Amino acid sequence: MSTNPTTTRAIERLWQEIERREGELVETVAELVRHPSPLGQEAEIQGYVAEHLRRSGLDVEVWDLDESLKLLPNAGDSGVPFLGRPNVTGRSAGTGGGRSLILNGHVDVVSPEPVEAWSYDPWLPTIVGDRLYGRGAHDMKSGDALNLMLPRLLRDLGIELQGDLIIHSVIEEECTGNGTLAASLRDQADAAIVTEPTGGALTHAHVGVLWFRVGVTGKSWHAMQAWRGVNAITKAIPIMQALQALDARLNEQTHPAFAGVEHPINLNIGVIQGGDWPSTVPGACELHCRLSCYPGQSVAETRREIEAAIAGAVAGDSWFAEHPVSIVWDGFQSAGSTVSLDEPSVQLLGAWHARVFGAPMGLNAGTGINDMRYYNFAGVPAGCYGTLGGNAHGADEWLDLRSLVPTAKVLGAFILDWCGVSS
Ligand SMILES: [Zn+2]
Repeated sequence: MSTNPTTTRAIERLWQEIERREGELVETVAELVRHPSPLGQEAEIQGYVAEHLRRSGLDVEVWDLDESLKLLPNAGDSGVPFLGRPNVTGRSAGTGGGRSLILNGHVDVVSPEPVEAWSYDPWLPTIVGDRLYGRGAHDMKSGDALNLMLPRLLRDLGIELQGDLIIHSVIEEECTGNGTLAASLRDQADAAIVTEPTGGALTHAHVGVLWFRVGVTGKSWHAMQAWRGVNAITKAIPIMQALQALDARLNEQTHPAFAGVEHPINLNIGVIQGGDWPSTVPGACELHCRLSCYPGQSVAETRREIEAAIAGAVAGDSWFAEHPVSIVWDGFQSAGSTVSLDEPSVQLLGAWHARVFGAPMGLNAGTGINDMRYYNFAGVPAGCYGTLGGNAHGADEWLDLRSLVPTAKVLGAFILDWCGVSS
């Protein structure tokens, strides 16, 4: 941690300003929640983000991703064209001599369905006690608000950084990661932090994730002679069992970052679609699955394991010999990543966390995927650090409002100490 008096003074002033403007911080989260932003509907919120950054004096670029991105390693395909769903980059050039930093946040949120399960309107931020409810309040409009408000407070206080501060506001974190992949190819920096909600812990490792669709062909027939048809749903059962066995086998392997984590690798058969009538033998069935893998294992290696498991399940079956199972890779197709705990940025963030919270920063190895990987792949050390809340991807998602100010203080002090303060 810096003992430079200019930096120390600037951190004290920033902390006072964070406390004084807590209401504005909360309102910024609420305003972001008021902009619904599921996949395909990110344009409006990105307009708000761009305008906010512009008014804080950053150089702002609003830019569409190129379709060719989908061909790159670790890219995915959401099936939705990129045009009109931009990323936003905000750059604040340093005065020189400092280290540069990227703050990253995704604006896309998962669907609030089933909405009937909510106690509140998911797009109408509602504060009850210490909680702010709404879709994205936690994951991760809380972090997006910090990425907007910290540059705003620095501008208002007249604090100039020596190193560059770059804000990446991205799309498609929840289904492919393409937004951050594209952003990571445009800006280099000495470190990056994804301000995902982590409850004040550092996510220093996370699994890779692949989505895939398995198509099974059957033969439709009247149910009164069901034995003459081929039931695509029941033909899919051995494939599901083989995938579950693969999950069990993968969890017998270990990875140092995931020591002590229960069942780190997870298969989820998330969607099954087949048949359309109780008295008709279903002629088709599709499984839509998600499987994770340890960091260090490539997408190609994981695909080979999935393909081998399915091939084993259908081997020796004469129907499958003539009607092969199809596998389509869609959505996430990315390896996992880790960041070393010895990285200077990780050490410094931990030091400021300990100062603000009076306890060591927790460490989290993520069994879900997040966008930090693309910076690590590009040689920019990156982890996730953010606020506390609950019910991400579920009904009544909430942000613990008490976590906003201390998280802002940790990140704010880290920015000043990492980048350096010139005035
Ligand atoms: Zn998130």
